[in-house]
Amino acid sequence: MPKSRKRKATVPAPPPPRRRPRPRMEYRARSDEAWYGARVVVQQGLLRVMFENSTEDADEWYDPGADFASPGDVDALRARFRQECLPLDHAHCGDLRPGDKLCLAYYIHGEVEELKYYDAVLETVERAAHGVEGCACRFTVRWTEGPRSGCLDKVGIKVVCCVPESPIQDPVLSEFLDDLTKKFGEDQGTATTASQQAAPTPISDSEEELCRVLLSLKRAPKSPTGKS
Ligand SMILES: [Zn+2]
Repeated sequence: MPKSRKRKATVPAPPPPRRRPRPRMEYRARSDEAWYGARVVVQQGLLRVMFENSTEDADEWYDPGADFASPGDVDALRARFRQECLPLDHAHCGDLRPGDKLCLAYYIHGEVEELKYYDAVLETVERAAHGVEGCACRFTVRWTEGPRSGCLDKVGIKVVCCVPESPIQDPVLSEFLDDLTKKFGEDQGTATTASQQAAPTPISDSEEELCRVLLSLKRAPKSPTGKS
Protein backbone atom coordinates (compact mmCIF):
# COMPACT_ATOMS: atom_id res chain seq x y z
CA MET A 1 0.00 0.00 0.00
CA PRO A 2 1.44 3.37 -0.96
CA LYS A 3 2.41 5.68 1.79
CA SER A 4 -0.03 8.48 2.34
CA ARG A 5 0.56 11.41 4.54
CA LYS A 6 0.14 10.16 8.05
CA ARG A 7 0.26 11.69 11.44
CA LYS A 8 -1.09 10.90 14.85
CA ALA A 9 -4.72 11.86 15.27
CA THR A 10 -4.13 13.89 18.39
CA VAL A 11 -5.21 17.23 16.99
CA PRO A 12 -9.02 17.45 16.89
CA ALA A 13 -9.32 19.96 14.06
CA PRO A 14 -6.92 19.23 11.22
CA PRO A 15 -5.52 22.22 9.37
CA PRO A 16 -6.64 22.53 5.77
CA PRO A 17 -4.67 20.19 3.51
CA ARG A 18 -1.80 21.58 1.56
CA ARG A 19 -2.33 22.18 -2.11
CA ARG A 20 -1.99 19.03 -4.07
CA PRO A 21 1.55 18.28 -5.19
CA ARG A 22 2.08 18.17 -8.91
CA PRO A 23 2.92 14.77 -10.28
CA ARG A 24 3.02 14.46 -14.02
CA MET A 25 1.02 11.27 -13.94
CA GLU A 26 -1.52 9.91 -11.50
CA TYR A 27 -2.38 6.32 -10.78
CA ARG A 28 -5.33 4.84 -8.93
CA ALA A 29 -3.84 2.31 -6.54
CA ARG A 30 -5.17 -1.23 -6.34
CA SER A 31 -4.60 -1.25 -2.59
CA ASP A 32 -7.00 1.53 -1.62
CA GLU A 33 -8.40 2.86 -4.94
CA ALA A 34 -7.10 6.35 -4.14
CA TRP A 35 -5.10 8.49 -6.58
CA TYR A 36 -1.35 9.00 -6.23
CA GLY A 37 1.42 10.57 -8.19
CA ALA A 38 3.33 7.76 -9.84
CA ARG A 39 5.64 6.76 -12.65
CA VAL A 40 6.08 3.50 -14.48
CA VAL A 41 8.88 1.38 -15.88
CA VAL A 42 8.91 -2.01 -17.57
CA GLN A 43 11.22 -4.51 -15.88
CA GLN A 44 11.68 -7.99 -17.29
CA GLY A 45 8.40 -7.67 -19.13
CA LEU A 46 6.45 -6.56 -16.06
CA LEU A 47 4.94 -3.13 -15.58
CA ARG A 48 6.14 -1.60 -12.35
CA VAL A 49 4.20 1.32 -10.87
CA MET A 50 6.24 3.40 -8.45
CA PHE A 51 4.50 5.84 -6.14
CA GLU A 52 5.91 9.24 -5.45
CA ASN A 53 7.11 9.67 -1.88
CA SER A 54 6.84 5.96 -1.19
CA THR A 55 9.34 3.19 -0.80
CA GLU A 56 9.57 0.34 -3.26
CA ASP A 57 7.59 -2.07 -1.10
CA ALA A 58 4.52 -0.03 -2.08
CA ASP A 59 5.12 -0.61 -5.79
CA GLU A 60 2.38 -2.33 -7.74
CA TRP A 61 3.24 -4.76 -10.52
CA TYR A 62 1.41 -6.02 -13.59
CA ASP A 63 2.33 -9.27 -15.27
CA PRO A 64 1.20 -9.58 -18.91
CA GLY A 65 1.11 -13.35 -18.48
CA ALA A 66 -1.02 -13.42 -15.36
CA ASP A 67 -2.95 -10.21 -14.79
CA PHE A 68 -4.85 -9.81 -18.04
CA ALA A 69 -7.58 -12.26 -18.99
CA SER A 70 -9.32 -10.08 -21.55
CA PRO A 71 -9.01 -6.76 -23.42
CA GLY A 72 -11.28 -5.38 -20.71
CA ASP A 73 -8.52 -5.93 -18.17
CA VAL A 74 -6.19 -3.87 -20.35
CA ASP A 75 -8.76 -1.07 -20.55
CA ALA A 76 -9.24 -1.23 -16.80
CA LEU A 77 -5.52 -0.74 -16.24
CA ARG A 78 -5.43 2.10 -18.75
CA ALA A 79 -8.22 3.80 -16.78
CA ARG A 80 -6.06 3.71 -13.66
CA PHE A 81 -3.75 6.31 -15.16
CA ARG A 82 -4.31 9.93 -16.03
CA GLN A 83 -2.56 13.25 -16.26
CA GLU A 84 -1.95 15.13 -13.07
CA CYS A 85 -4.89 16.97 -11.56
CA LEU A 86 -4.12 20.59 -10.84
CA PRO A 87 -5.54 22.51 -7.88
CA LEU A 88 -8.49 24.67 -8.83
CA ASP A 89 -7.24 28.20 -9.38
CA HIS A 90 -8.95 30.79 -7.21
CA ALA A 91 -9.65 32.94 -10.25
CA HIS A 92 -11.29 30.07 -12.13
CA CYS A 93 -13.94 28.82 -9.72
CA GLY A 94 -16.49 30.43 -12.04
CA ASP A 95 -15.42 28.14 -14.88
CA LEU A 96 -16.75 25.04 -13.14
CA ARG A 97 -20.04 23.57 -14.25
CA PRO A 98 -22.31 20.98 -12.66
CA GLY A 99 -21.18 17.55 -13.76
CA ASP A 100 -17.50 18.48 -13.88
CA LYS A 101 -15.22 15.77 -12.63
CA LEU A 102 -13.10 16.75 -9.64
CA CYS A 103 -10.49 15.09 -7.50
CA LEU A 104 -10.71 15.99 -3.83
CA ALA A 105 -8.47 15.69 -0.83
CA TYR A 106 -10.11 13.65 1.88
CA TYR A 107 -9.04 13.15 5.48
CA ILE A 108 -9.40 9.65 6.79
CA HIS A 109 -9.61 9.77 10.55
CA GLY A 110 -8.27 6.88 12.51
CA GLU A 111 -5.37 5.93 14.68
CA VAL A 112 -3.29 7.79 12.18
CA GLU A 113 -4.79 10.50 10.05
CA GLU A 114 -4.36 10.09 6.34
CA LEU A 115 -4.93 12.45 3.48
CA LYS A 116 -6.07 10.70 0.33
CA TYR A 117 -7.46 11.77 -3.00
CA TYR A 118 -10.70 10.49 -4.52
CA ASP A 119 -12.88 11.59 -7.40
CA ALA A 120 -16.20 13.36 -7.17
CA VAL A 121 -18.62 15.15 -9.46
CA LEU A 122 -19.62 18.78 -8.98
CA GLU A 123 -23.29 19.29 -8.22
CA THR A 124 -23.58 23.01 -7.46
CA VAL A 125 -21.47 26.02 -6.55
CA GLU A 126 -22.55 28.45 -3.87
CA ARG A 127 -20.92 31.69 -4.88
CA ALA A 128 -19.31 33.94 -2.31
CA ALA A 129 -17.40 37.19 -2.57
CA HIS A 130 -13.65 36.59 -2.91
CA GLY A 131 -11.65 38.28 -0.18
CA VAL A 132 -7.95 38.50 0.60
CA GLU A 133 -7.85 34.73 1.05
CA GLY A 134 -9.21 34.19 -2.43
CA CYS A 135 -12.14 32.00 -3.36
CA ALA A 136 -14.68 31.59 -0.56
CA CYS A 137 -17.22 29.69 -2.66
CA ARG A 138 -18.65 26.40 -1.43
CA PHE A 139 -18.78 23.44 -3.75
CA THR A 140 -21.38 20.74 -3.34
CA VAL A 141 -19.94 17.52 -4.66
CA ARG A 142 -21.04 13.94 -4.98
CA TRP A 143 -18.24 11.49 -4.32
CA THR A 144 -17.84 8.82 -6.97
CA GLU A 145 -15.00 7.00 -5.21
CA GLY A 146 -13.63 6.35 -1.77
CA PRO A 147 -15.27 5.86 1.62
CA ARG A 148 -18.02 8.40 0.88
CA SER A 149 -18.81 7.25 -2.63
CA GLY A 150 -22.36 8.26 -3.50
CA CYS A 151 -22.57 10.84 -0.72
CA LEU A 152 -22.83 14.60 -0.99
CA ASP A 153 -20.44 16.99 0.71
CA LYS A 154 -19.80 20.70 0.74
CA VAL A 155 -16.16 21.60 0.35
CA GLY A 156 -13.97 24.66 -0.06
CA ILE A 157 -11.50 25.35 -2.84
CA LYS A 158 -8.53 24.12 -0.82
CA VAL A 159 -9.42 20.49 -1.39
CA VAL A 160 -10.51 20.82 -5.02
CA CYS A 161 -8.45 19.69 -7.99
CA CYS A 162 -9.61 19.52 -11.59
CA VAL A 163 -9.42 16.27 -13.55
CA PRO A 164 -7.91 16.83 -17.00
CA GLU A 165 -9.94 15.51 -19.90
CA SER A 166 -7.03 14.71 -22.16
CA PRO A 167 -5.74 11.14 -21.88
CA ILE A 168 -2.41 10.28 -20.36
CA GLN A 169 0.50 10.18 -22.78
CA ASP A 170 3.32 8.21 -21.29
CA PRO A 171 5.45 6.34 -23.83
CA VAL A 172 6.35 3.46 -21.49
CA LEU A 173 2.79 2.91 -20.37
CA SER A 174 1.40 3.28 -23.89
CA GLU A 175 3.78 0.71 -25.30
CA PHE A 176 3.01 -1.78 -22.54
CA LEU A 177 -0.75 -1.40 -22.97
CA ASP A 178 -0.64 -1.37 -26.77
CA ASP A 179 1.41 -4.57 -26.81
CA LEU A 180 -1.21 -6.23 -24.62
CA THR A 181 -4.03 -4.99 -26.82
CA LYS A 182 -2.22 -6.28 -29.89
CA LYS A 183 -1.71 -9.64 -28.27
CA PHE A 184 -5.43 -10.00 -27.61
CA GLY A 185 -6.12 -8.95 -31.18
CA GLU A 186 -3.90 -11.75 -32.45
CA ASP A 187 -5.48 -14.29 -30.10
CA GLN A 188 -8.96 -13.42 -31.26
CA GLY A 189 -8.78 -15.67 -34.30
CA THR A 190 -9.62 -18.70 -32.18
CA ALA A 191 -11.32 -17.37 -29.11
CA THR A 192 -13.97 -14.81 -28.41
CA THR A 193 -13.15 -12.69 -25.42
CA ALA A 194 -15.66 -10.58 -23.64
CA SER A 195 -14.85 -7.27 -22.09
CA GLN A 196 -15.33 -7.48 -18.39
CA GLN A 197 -14.50 -4.01 -17.34
CA ALA A 198 -16.01 -3.41 -13.97
CA ALA A 199 -18.93 -1.02 -14.04
CA PRO A 200 -19.46 1.24 -11.07
CA THR A 201 -22.00 -0.16 -8.66
CA PRO A 202 -25.20 1.82 -8.94
CA ILE A 203 -26.27 3.50 -5.76
CA SER A 204 -29.86 2.94 -4.77
CA ASP A 205 -32.07 5.85 -3.81
CA SER A 206 -32.32 4.64 -0.26
CA GLU A 207 -28.57 4.47 0.17
CA GLU A 208 -28.26 7.92 -1.27
CA GLU A 209 -30.90 9.20 1.09
CA LEU A 210 -29.11 7.59 4.02
CA CYS A 211 -25.90 9.34 3.03
CA ARG A 212 -27.70 12.64 3.03
CA VAL A 213 -29.27 12.03 6.41
CA LEU A 214 -25.95 11.01 7.91
CA LEU A 215 -24.30 13.99 6.36
CA SER A 216 -26.88 16.42 7.64
CA LEU A 217 -26.58 14.95 11.13
CA LYS A 218 -22.82 15.23 10.98
CA ARG A 219 -22.90 18.77 9.72
CA ALA A 220 -25.80 20.09 11.80
CA PRO A 221 -26.70 22.90 12.08
CA LYS A 222 -24.94 23.73 8.83
CA SER A 223 -26.68 21.04 6.88
CA PRO A 224 -26.06 20.91 3.15
CA THR A 225 -28.90 21.74 0.86
CA GLY A 226 -28.60 18.42 -0.89
CA LYS A 227 -29.46 17.88 -4.50
CA SER A 228 -32.31 20.13 -5.54
ZN1 LIG B 1 -14.92 31.29 -5.83
